[in-house]
Amino acid sequence: MQSQIEKSSSMQLEPNKHPDRDMIVVALGGNAILKPGENGTFAEQMDNIRHTAAQLATLISNGKRLIITHGNGPQVGRIFQQQELGFRAGLPEMPLYICGAMSQAQIGIMIQQALHNELILAGCPRTVVTLICQTLVDPQSKAFSDPTKPIGSFYSEAAAQKAMAEKGETWKEDSGRGWRRVVPSPEPLAFPEIEAIKALIARDIIVIVSGGGGTPVARSSRGILAGVDAVVEKDLAAQAVARITGAGTLLILTDVTGARINYRTPEEQMIGRVSLKEIKEYHRQGHFIPGSMGPKVLAAIRFVEDGGNMAVITSLENALPGAEGKVGTVITR
Ligand code: ADP
Ligand code: MG
Repeated sequence: MQSQIEKSSSMQLEPNKHPDRDMIVVALGGNAILKPGENGTFAEQMDNIRHTAAQLATLISNGKRLIITHGNGPQVGRIFQQQELGFRAGLPEMPLYICGAMSQAQIGIMIQQALHNELILAGCPRTVVTLICQTLVDPQSKAFSDPTKPIGSFYSEAAAQKAMAEKGETWKEDSGRGWRRVVPSPEPLAFPEIEAIKALIARDIIVIVSGGGGTPVARSSRGILAGVDAVVEKDLAAQAVARITGAGTLLILTDVTGARINYRTPEEQMIGRVSLKEIKEYHRQGHFIPGSMGPKVLAAIRFVEDGGNMAVITSLENALPGAEGKVGTVITR
């Protein structure tokens, strides 16, 4: 785990020397937008997004500058399932990374439209735009031999066993919520579109970037990019975006009010304000499940270690107090 924490320093990224107090990178959870147990209709997802967009609009009208990113686990899984169903009906299948790009557009436009509308209602109209972004990964990374990232809906163990036997996929039990397919989740190394992101921010345009961690790509020695079938953790991509853009706060919004130690045991305890040293120790002890809370805590640790002012992990409903570090798991320097 220690080596995982230190990995950020091997990334070719500029340090966050003068973090901007008013700039917040907000990472919205895919599982908080399409909740387990919900059917996941357009109306349900849009409704979940609208509630968050209203809070984000309040932050913006209060003078905060936001960069938004989001997860796509449940959504990309659904799109991939649709591809499989289409394939059985004779339609060609798209690769997983193209499904990821489809999910960037799908979730991006919902956030873009909802936030545009909420900003008008708040009397603070702004331009909001979604960038379909790529994320450079190392195809030699050991992440490819050990898939950890859950995607798609939750299934019974029997359904998971069938998919593993028939399709050679890897499936794992996910935090007591059911079985899900898991895919490789390599580290984000760089963002080919970073100059576009910076240019839009400089013009005060609100950008939705690197959805689902961005479309994973490998780069040849000549600089040619090619898609890779994997899903980058959006929390780690959000941390890297926050670091490059010099944001002061990393706000990770998910479907739980904060990280817990001894999760799902009688000794379970919510972590509130916590020092970097303490949370690193909890992380090392293995309290946070890889592929769900693990990458959020790791992103928060890296962000504050790299010079960020504050990282917060809380629920989507708590966006406003969360941005001020008043609720959730709060790590400051
Ligand atoms: P998102 O879509 O927001 O990235 P994830 O499902 O990836 O959401 O991560 C949030 C989930 O992490 C929670 O719903 C919870 O089930 C799980 N989890 C795993 N370990 C912990 C922990 N130690 N404390 C709190 N939640 C945890
Ligand atoms: Mg996640």
